Amino acid sequence: MPRPLSATIHTAALAHNLTVARRFAPNSKIWAVVKANAYGHGVARVFPGLRATDGFGLLDLDEAVKLRELGWAGPILLLEGFFRTTDLDVIDRYSLTTTLHSDEQLRMLELARLSKPVNIQLKMNSGMNRLGYTPERFRAAWERARAAQGVGQITLMSHFSDADGERGIAGQLAVFERGAQGIAGARSLANSAATLWHPESHFDWVRPGIMLYGASPSGLHAAIRDTGLQPAMTLASELIAIQTLAAGQTVGYGSVFTARGPMRLGVVACGYADGYPRMAPEGTPVMVDGVLTRIVGRVSMDMLTVDLTPCPAANVGTPVELWGPSLPIDTVANTCGTVGYELMCAVAPRVPMRGA
Ligand SMILES: *Cc1c(COP(=O)(O)O)cnc(C)c1O
Repeated sequence: MPRPLSATIHTAALAHNLTVARRFAPNSKIWAVVKANAYGHGVARVFPGLRATDGFGLLDLDEAVKLRELGWAGPILLLEGFFRTTDLDVIDRYSLTTTLHSDEQLRMLELARLSKPVNIQLKMNSGMNRLGYTPERFRAAWERARAAQGVGQITLMSHFSDADGERGIAGQLAVFERGAQGIAGARSLANSAATLWHPESHFDWVRPGIMLYGASPSGLHAAIRDTGLQPAMTLASELIAIQTLAAGQTVGYGSVFTARGPMRLGVVACGYADGYPRMAPEGTPVMVDGVLTRIVGRVSMDMLTVDLTPCPAANVGTPVELWGPSLPIDTVANTCGTVGYELMCAVAPRVPMRGA
């Protein structure tokens, strides 16, 4: 028997979350973002749930090829563009759309011999300061791209740094509109946070990622509670041992937890080698047999330990939910000082994952 730990990917939740994105951006097309192996869910596993999208956005050429092999004939957008001249052969062969954010990329495209023009998303750096042309240089880049034989349709693109936060998008949106003024072409700016909270940014294409997986762009579950988004992943395991501690006894490496009185502990088959965060502090929520309890002691490589005080009937074989429909991944992440994005991307290859 394998260890009782496994991840389940909920196809119906993915399909539902896509309809939520459509409800928030009814007049836009959707790039469903499936980078990082679909935020750890697996490109092939999410494909059945997301196939009603208008296009897929991702980073890796091999993931793009995988989508074609799964039968996806629609648009695929490379969110970081390409890195080498040879990438353009793959882009050409599989009819991919690419982000274009630099003169180096533009030069490669101008020199490439392609069977047909490549559709591009010309990226403006409107304040994020990672990728893209400054607003001052944007028009010149657009003119040069438009003149290139290898370039087909040009969509204007930018990305927000604070769509989920206090700062918001107004500043970047104004910068974008100034830099793109008078330039024809579709626009694409909104990530999940902007799709949910900034309708003025929706334009022609939105690019939701995290919301499709049922987690919050801000990292706080409360922020999406009323949206109807459903978690797309359940990480579940079982208790594999029970310990009864007396007052003064400790558990795990470093003996960081000491029992104040007699107590039962459950040992869960899940550790940091499975992608569960080692920095999870005492008190991190875990569901045991449908009852909310907490981690005590340090998370180790293959196991973690939970307080069974609230669930006295729990025993070896009792089901444990690390995150999923009864425990939002955002809540776990928040306790650990991170965001749902990181936890879902970190689920280790050794964890069996299946679609349901
Ligand atoms: C990752 C990414 C997105 C999706 O972001 P979410 O916050 O997951 O919605 C959108 N656009 C670009 C360019 C990205 O890299």
